[in-house]
Amino acid sequence: MALGAWSTKIYAKKETVILKDHGKELKINTLDENSKSNKDDEYCDIKDPSHCDPKSKKKQDQKVDFAKSKFKTLKYNDLNKIQKKLLDAADKVSKNSHSPYSHFQVGAALLCDDGEIITGTNFENAAYGSTICAERAAILRANSQGKRNFSRIAIIGRGKDFDTIDPVSPCGSCRQVIMEISQISNKNIEVIMSNSKKDKIIISSIQELLPLGFGPQNLGIKI
Ligand SMILES: [Zn+2]
Repeated sequence: MALGAWSTKIYAKKETVILKDHGKELKINTLDENSKSNKDDEYCDIKDPSHCDPKSKKKQDQKVDFAKSKFKTLKYNDLNKIQKKLLDAADKVSKNSHSPYSHFQVGAALLCDDGEIITGTNFENAAYGSTICAERAAILRANSQGKRNFSRIAIIGRGKDFDTIDPVSPCGSCRQVIMEISQISNKNIEVIMSNSKKDKIIISSIQELLPLGFGPQNLGIKI
């Protein structure tokens, strides 16, 4: 079925949705017997509903598999001295996280160009959207001290009652803010991401985590 102008991916709640194609209404029922019982999967891809099926192999394949990813995983002892110091600082402050809603404690530690380490933790809010992540908390704290030039950031996270298996990576908003300080610092900032036991660590960079990112340089602004 050709959907004309609607030929790109369309996401909608699992119910009957009506799309208009050149003035003609198309009714699509996205519910099926398998997806009715799949309450945890609220959205599905209408053009490819196979991943709404919990038994679908395609759905299972969407889970991030670090073993198959292009990122090499390291252990704590593979890190150099400064990377260890930075990760330890992030780990230490993660315990001060204010996370009564998610119970997910994150710590971040920034390495400033003058050698100082500045840390931050996530600070959640009853109005969830007002929550600040650990990475941005550290960056804002550094800024309040007049520091805007960095070379590295380490991130670690754990559940209140459980260890994280895979490395904790920065969310999209934090990647954008790290891109800002990366361009200010004129460095491709190194991002060290760790699970709670520090036995699965990925070292990447902001340019790798946010390819073709937008920053002050794209506005022709030199800061
Ligand atoms: Zn974030």
